[in-house]
Amino acid sequence: MLFFVLIFSFTFSPELTDKPLLFWAKNDFCCEHIHLDAASLNVSQQPPVGALEKKFIARGLVDVQKIDPSLLVELKYSTTDNFIKEDVYGDLERAYLQPLAAEKLKNANRYLKQEKPKYTLLVYDGARPRSVTKIFWQRMSHLPYNRREDFVADPAIGSIHNFGCAVDLTIADENGQPLDMGTIFDYFGQLAEPRREAALLKAGKLTRQQIENRQLLRRVMTKAGYTSIQTEWWHFNALSRANAKAKYGFIE
Ligand SMILES: [Zn+2]
Repeated sequence: MLFFVLIFSFTFSPELTDKPLLFWAKNDFCCEHIHLDAASLNVSQQPPVGALEKKFIARGLVDVQKIDPSLLVELKYSTTDNFIKEDVYGDLERAYLQPLAAEKLKNANRYLKQEKPKYTLLVYDGARPRSVTKIFWQRMSHLPYNRREDFVADPAIGSIHNFGCAVDLTIADENGQPLDMGTIFDYFGQLAEPRREAALLKAGKLTRQQIENRQLLRRVMTKAGYTSIQTEWWHFNALSRANAKAKYGFIE
């Protein structure tokens, strides 16, 4: 059986290392169920630096967890749990931002912990290359232009994510679980819109607790210098589009 463990430890893919490894080892005498984790195999948890990540680094962007290791990151576009159900980031697993935006994010997390010591910010997306915005735009091509713009940025204009100056995030509790914000991330509809919260509360579509959770997120982010938007509770800008474009330009 040891033979199988050794062979497996040399051959499995590194992207599996953050998950428990389950497999069956079989020989002439037994069939045994073995549970291993990355630590027991002495394998680094860090995925390799891929092409997209190299592009971010070359543009001077920083890994937000290097600025604040207590931040949680779960890049939704590096999974199929997103609105187009496609992994468009591939091997990118870390969130990058311009240093100025990452510094503000670190301060927001500090302000959060001052209010709620066991909570932490959970980042869903940071810098996003324009090539990915083009994919989103194309996937929404069945909609008329003005409806498309409700969901995704026109790549000709660009999203502030394309300059490394916007972040999508929520708050995680002491167990790392996201707080109830009333909708999931990237929910396309009025329920996600901060501008409608008072009416949605009145109509019984959002609870007071859900709105308070959103307000906590907005409070710590705006205190740190981010601005919120009226249509998505999870999105925050570190700079205006014009300033971000002038200062940094597109990440293609
Ligand atoms: Zn966003």
